[in-house]
Amino acid sequence: MSHVMNTYARQPVAFVRGQGVWLWDAAEKKYLDALAGIAVNTLGHNHPRLVRALTEQISRIIHSSNLFQIPLQEQAADRIAQITGLDEVFFCNSGLEANEAAIKVARKYGHDRGVAEPAIIVMEKAFHGRSLATLSATASRKVQAGFEPLVQGFVRVPLNDLDAVRQVAAHNKNVVAVFIEPIQGEGGINVSRLEYLKGLREICDRNEWLFMSDEVQCGLGRTGKWFVYQHAGFMPDVVPLAKGLAGGVPVGACVVGGRAKGVFKPGNHGSTFGGNPLAMCGVVTTLDTVKEEGLLANAASVGAAMLNGLNASLGGVPGVVDVRGMGLMIGVELDRPCGELVKMGLDAGLVFNVTADNVIRLLPALVISEAEGREVVERLVPLVKAFLSQGAAQPKAVAAR
Ligand SMILES: *Cc1c(COP(=O)(O)O)cnc(C)c1O
Repeated sequence: MSHVMNTYARQPVAFVRGQGVWLWDAAEKKYLDALAGIAVNTLGHNHPRLVRALTEQISRIIHSSNLFQIPLQEQAADRIAQITGLDEVFFCNSGLEANEAAIKVARKYGHDRGVAEPAIIVMEKAFHGRSLATLSATASRKVQAGFEPLVQGFVRVPLNDLDAVRQVAAHNKNVVAVFIEPIQGEGGINVSRLEYLKGLREICDRNEWLFMSDEVQCGLGRTGKWFVYQHAGFMPDVVPLAKGLAGGVPVGACVVGGRAKGVFKPGNHGSTFGGNPLAMCGVVTTLDTVKEEGLLANAASVGAAMLNGLNASLGGVPGVVDVRGMGLMIGVELDRPCGELVKMGLDAGLVFNVTADNVIRLLPALVISEAEGREVVERLVPLVKAFLSQGAAQPKAVAAR
């Protein structure tokens, strides 16, 4: 009997090693990895530069403490400031922690301006994490159920609907921030229109709200630019990061600038592990490698080719509702729940996942080549067609076998 707490419905596969976008299980079966540990393995598996840097770092020092100077933390923060265009970085260890820090920044910003009960606008279908504050900001009832009472102070609106935000602005004087995943990941690869994001920024400016862009999943080069807000051409005030930031070493970061700069002062927030030398070595090496290997351009071009390939093969196929995404963040929405496709994929040597019940999600490493991207499409398309041809009534029987 496993003593690991039963919080995940796991697939019956264990990967024991990897190379680039390829994985092997204990029986030496080879898989094409189109998930990258849910957007974590930015440089793929076993990237020589990351392995060398981390190995050397471990032999020098893994952890010291934020009670002391950490030069690698300074270096990592300099690089993040450079690519985000923002000013201050708080380091933590995960996405929910980065978002928790963002929520605290917004509340402190409100209190500093005399708003006693600050509120934050959040989106339908949003996912921000599973701590009490971040699950309250999340839109999924599945994530929240059983953990009430929820944290107060969130106002929910539909994505891509500026009028809904204007209505809240007119009636709720407690609002201090808008918190948005510019491309929703767990919610089903839902892409914000760039005009909508620009409009949101304008509403934030008019009301002196913070614009907080949760780029934990969509950020860090995946869409072909470092961050999604850069496609829309404006600056946010707060950007939580995690997942791919250190190429697989656990790390999170809450990056602030604009109106949020200087809100946190000594004593306002902290983390024992946050920003330790091992994680910071992962950040510096991952960001430098993305830049020097030209992986932003690669994500844009391979991602566009994959989206085209999927559209050409699956667009208009009965049962396929939509193929969408940006760069290497791609969703294929079906008209029915399709969780069983994940197991069919593993059997066929392809790793991906399904989110929001009926959206196939592809998040490959930024090192994926054009040929490997084509291979993902060539392996996925027949699986989807086979799954759909089983008919709407049959998937249940397949799952039971
Ligand atoms: C994964 C994710 C989180 C939570 O990150 P954890 O590291 O699992 O806590 C928050 N926001 C978004 C957009 C995510 O994709």
